[in-house]
Amino acid sequence: MSEPCLKVDDLRVTFDVGHGRKLQAVAGVSFDIKPGQTLGLVGESGSGKSTTGLAALRLIPPTSGSVRLAGTELTRLRRRELRGMRRRMQMVFQDPYSSLNPSMTIGQLLEEPLVVHTKLSKDERRTAVERMLDSVGLSAQFAARYPHEFSGGQRQRIAIARAMMVRPDLIVLDEPVSALDVSTQSQILNLLTRIQAESGTAFLFIAHDLAVVRLMSPTVAVMYLGEIVEQGPSERVYDEPAHPYSAALISAVPFPDPDRRRSDDRLILGGDLPSPLNPPSGCRFRTRCPFAMDICATEAPPPVPIEGGGIASCHLHAHGPKLGGRSLRPFLADHGAIGHS
Ligand code: SF4
Repeated sequence: MSEPCLKVDDLRVTFDVGHGRKLQAVAGVSFDIKPGQTLGLVGESGSGKSTTGLAALRLIPPTSGSVRLAGTELTRLRRRELRGMRRRMQMVFQDPYSSLNPSMTIGQLLEEPLVVHTKLSKDERRTAVERMLDSVGLSAQFAARYPHEFSGGQRQRIAIARAMMVRPDLIVLDEPVSALDVSTQSQILNLLTRIQAESGTAFLFIAHDLAVVRLMSPTVAVMYLGEIVEQGPSERVYDEPAHPYSAALISAVPFPDPDRRRSDDRLILGGDLPSPLNPPSGCRFRTRCPFAMDICATEAPPPVPIEGGGIASCHLHAHGPKLGGRSLRPFLADHGAIGHS
């Protein structure tokens, strides 16, 4: 078993929002990603996914917890040491236009990381830029053009190319295809898959679109209000979710195969995501959970191992129906929450 490329333990990010109030955006998140692997991070908008990605790269400071990249503890690095590690971890954002300096040509944008992080000569840098443009399906002649001259899909190719210029160990991809149309989405996903196979770069793939995450990620973590409520192999989590929130999110995914989901397989969630300024006591999901019990208001559910791999944090596994780490599906069907299969 190879060592994790990224190992995150009990990561917490709290923002001071004034008047003595604290917003806990990330509330004790743990996961790891092996070299060359992808972890999908899913959840509703406001669940803390992007903050987790930014804190994992120390683009915002974690309040507590540990983040190790290839064995190096990032949270304790001084500014200068952190600068040295920047080459090994990159980020691609949803809107490449806002992350690409509009006054720089594509050639300059791709060359810049090489100037900062390598000792390559000007000629070597130019050759590397041309090779990378070719590798992401763009003509070397585009090097003289500016970001505004490209479509959204092309700009995302440029952002991926820029991230890959320094051959990082890890790229955090934050909603990298959600601003693109469906056919451009699949081109970018294919590009990412190919680049990962060729380079062995690990991805943290953040998205609210569960169908996209399933395509990209053999493992998935589901976030709710700053916490990971379930994680494990994507096949197990998607087919046999063990947490009511995962079950609800997955039941809303429009799978292409009509036999795969029936209309009565939809588990509808009530209410909105509560404010992270004032999260519910006990289980943070309890105000929207149709199966909440008394204990859910007083005790935070610990993670329990789930049959088929991974963990879920829900009292249903130890209290009430005592599911004991089994799939939630038969329980949901017995309660009329979804149809019997
Ligand atoms: Fe629902 Fe309780 Fe499980 Fe939370 S711990 S998901 S409230 S049953």
